[in-house]
Amino acid sequence: MRVNTLKRAAVAVALALPGAAIAAVVAAPAAHADGCYTWTRNLYQGRSGADVRELQVRVAGWAGNRGIVETDGIFGPKTAAAVRRFQQAYGLKVDGIAGPETYAKLYDLQDNDCTPRHFSYSELDDGCGRGGWSGGPLSASQTRQNALHTMWKLEALRRKLGDKPLYVTSGFRSHTCNDQVGGASDSQHLYGTAADVVSRTSSLCDVARTARGNGFSGIFGPGYPDHDDHVHVDSRRENNSDGIPNGTSWSAPDCGVR
Ligand SMILES: [Zn+2]
Repeated sequence: MRVNTLKRAAVAVALALPGAAIAAVVAAPAAHADGCYTWTRNLYQGRSGADVRELQVRVAGWAGNRGIVETDGIFGPKTAAAVRRFQQAYGLKVDGIAGPETYAKLYDLQDNDCTPRHFSYSELDDGCGRGGWSGGPLSASQTRQNALHTMWKLEALRRKLGDKPLYVTSGFRSHTCNDQVGGASDSQHLYGTAADVVSRTSSLCDVARTARGNGFSGIFGPGYPDHDDHVHVDSRRENNSDGIPNGTSWSAPDCGVR
């Protein structure tokens, strides 16, 4: 994470300087200290643009019960509510406005490749050991972008579960990989929009129940055939490339999730 390196560098420089110069040097780095993306203005309801879209990807996991935050570049009420939940979750001032404090937390959470701190592209790529993002119905870059979106939702789910490790046992699958593991023919795993997860600290039912508030429109867990040893989460409602309706489909009968 470059942000930490820069902070350390700033402190080192500050220590070498006397008096008033220290305050100026120490205050400077936070605003632009990120190798992935830097926001240059405050965002709030009514604003729109590519920077709103970047924000929406990162707060997608704070959509609230049965909700989703569309990645449409328009800061509407759903985005504002998600920003408020994000701020609440990380102990920030809750005002629904993405400003310096919110950005600082996002920079802190994201790595230079834009993935959230606790998940990585390598953890989500072709689950059959081949690696990479090709061999599915979408372009490799679109698939990878979907996987990034999935990871930010997982980061929120992880936070809600007490910030304990959440392990991805299967993310993107090429057609070949999906056939190999016996996945459904139009599986969300083919699009990069799904992840199978397990936890050592939360029960699978806790994971499945909690995921309902993290922007996942597909949830399958204990009691659903072949899902007693993991929880499957996906974003089928936002996936316009698959052959199924853009609806919510949850089933973990042993957990009361339906
Ligand atoms: Zn799955």
